[in-house]
This record gives sequence, structure tokens and C-alpha cells, in this order.
Amino acid sequence: AASASSSSSPAATAAAATEVPGTMKAWAYDAYGDASVLKLDEAAVVPAIGEDQVLVRVVAAALNPVDAKRRAGKFQATDSPLPTVPGYDVAGVVVKVGGQVKGLKEGDEVYGMISEKPLEGPKQSGSLAEYTAVEEKLLARKPKGIDFAQAAGLPLAILTANEGLEKAGMAAGKSVLVLGGAGGVGSLAIQLAKQVYGASKVAATASTKKIELLKSLGADVAIDYTKENFEDLLDKYDVVFDAVGQGDKAVKVVKEGGSVVVLTGAVTPPGFRFVVTSNGSTLEKLNPYLESGKVKPLVDPQGPFPFSKVVEAFSYLETGRATGKVVISPI
Ligand code: NDP
Repeated sequence: AASASSSSSPAATAAAATEVPGTMKAWAYDAYGDASVLKLDEAAVVPAIGEDQVLVRVVAAALNPVDAKRRAGKFQATDSPLPTVPGYDVAGVVVKVGGQVKGLKEGDEVYGMISEKPLEGPKQSGSLAEYTAVEEKLLARKPKGIDFAQAAGLPLAILTANEGLEKAGMAAGKSVLVLGGAGGVGSLAIQLAKQVYGASKVAATASTKKIELLKSLGADVAIDYTKENFEDLLDKYDVVFDAVGQGDKAVKVVKEGGSVVVLTGAVTPPGFRFVVTSNGSTLEKLNPYLESGKVKPLVDPQGPFPFSKVVEAFSYLETGRATGKVVISPI
């Protein structure tokens, strides 16, 4: 196998050059709008890597609501310039490394969220492409026993679940209510609360068909929001984790001195909102839980969607009814 760092023979150089073409297939949009602005570009430029970056051959990617909101133009003021190749979540193989890269090498299987701040100057060339350039510090090794499709669904959602629980002061012995427990973030928030943070009690909301799923993820109490209003029940929680946008109701069920963290929608005091930051070392810290099976990725059974079906995958995500992650694989 050709190794760019150790070999300088012409044959090896030629082999490396054919491995990474100059152009690639990528989904892109050059105007903001609904899913129909997405077009498959058969000759997009493979991004150049910076000194601290690696080039990842994308094996699987995943969609997040932020991809749809960004595509709709909600973050125009701080977005990268158009045209945009969307996609934050990636799982793939390192095919090239920058000069300052220390820990990763060609052939490493990695996963991560490719932009450190999803709303502030996100990358113009994202993960819905055959190749994407990512800072080494944003990547982690793909957990053993987790396939590329499963891994692709994890980064943004698990980092959000973890950062939200951490910022809310989640700790052993505390109770938590997860609003939106069947979604990409909520399904991981339930599991992390229980398995990583040692929650004494986890409650979560979803519609009728997803109640059994909430229990299988580790929820002690599963509330069917089509039948009961969680804010009318008597239970109060140390932490409320709102992945739906119900901040006004969420604050009604928090214990005095507790925390309400909201991912979206209006913020009602004492609730607070934050925006996830990408970080490979946090993923590395969570890897043992994924490798032991204590925390399980949840890929929506409508998928994985093949690369040709990205528009359909977006449309499905945007119904707001996804169960776990909408994954694109293979790419
Ligand atoms: P998903 O698309 O995965 O969420 C879909 C899930 O939401 C479905 O399973 C659905 O279940 C559930 N849901 C919808 N309405 C309700 C409701 N009223 N009560 C309970 N569950 C409900 O989204 P994500 O989990 O990826 O993201 C959730 C939100 O958080 C999005 O708005 C996203 O933009 C935001 N977000 C913000 C971040 C930040 O850094 N601030 C980071 C990540 C996400 P059902 O079919 O049963 O209704």
C-alpha cells in the first residue's frame, strides 16, 4: 500500500494520486430553499486539506435538522458562501493527511462532525459528497462493532445530547425528562443520561407507536404525548432536556434549582439554549460505551438511504417524524 509519508518513489506517488481524484460526486445547492434546490454535482471539486486536516473518503453521512434549516437560509448571516455541499455528520476512511496531523493516518476509519460550530462559518464542502476535509481534532476513531452507517448517525446528535446533559448539570442520582425521546438527539440523551451520567430516573415523550422504543432505550417512564400532557403530570425533574421546542412547558416540570436545556424554539427562564460544538475527544470518550453496547446508535428503519436518494431523505427528515437518525449510505 502506498503511504504518502514514507514513500517518495514515482510509482507510489502515482498510486496515491489515482486514489484521490480531482473531482467527485456531491450534493449541492446554489440558492436557499426547500429540498428541491439540492442537485447532484457529478464534478464537484475535491476539497483541499489544510495542515491540521485530513481528507476523508465518505462511506456514510447523516442528516440533521440543522442541514435543512441552513438550506432554507435561516443562518445566512453566518453561513459559508454558496454553493453549499451540506452535511455535518460523516463516517469514512482517511485517504490523505495534512502536514500537522499527528494521530491519524491513511486507512484509519473515523467519524465526526465536520464543522466545529455548525452555525458560525460552517464548511462550504460538507459530508454529502465522496470526500470531505476535516480537522483531525474533530474526528474520532470509528468505534469497534459499529458500522459506518451507524457511526455516521452519531456525531452531531450524541455530542448535542452529551453537551446538553453536561451543561444542565446532569449527574448520578438525578432525574431527567427528555422531550422528543425518539428523535436523533433524544434517543441518545435517554441512553447517555442512564448509562453515562447515572440518572436515577429517565422519563421521555413520544407518540403512541414509539412508546415501546423509549422503554427499550432505557426510559423508566414513557409519556405518550398524544394522550397526556407531561406538564399536567405531578412528577418534577432535576433536569429537563427539550429536543422539541417546548421550553414554555418544560419549565413547569423542573424542580426548584433544577435545569432546563432547550435545543430549539423560544427560551423561557430558567431554561437556556446552547449550540453544539464539535469535538473528537468527546467522541473518543464516548467510544467505550458504544463499543460495549451500553449506548446503541439508532438508525431510522426507513433508511439508510442510498446516495442517489438524498432529496427523499431530506424530505423524510423534514416531516419531523424520524425515529433516530436519517442516514445516507453507501456513498
Ligand atoms: P429529529 O428530526 O430526529 O426529531 C424527530 C423526532 O421528534 C420524532 O421521533 C418525533 O417523534 C419527535 N417529536 C416531534 N414532535 C414531538 C413532540 N411534540 N413531543 C415529543 N416528541 C416529538 O430531530 P433531532 O433530534 O435531530 O433534533 C431535535 C431538535 O433539536 C431540532 O429542532 C434540531 O434542529 C435541534 N437541535 C439543536 C441543536 C443545538 O445545538 N442547539 C443540536 C441538534 C439538534 P413522534 O413521531 O413520536 O412525534
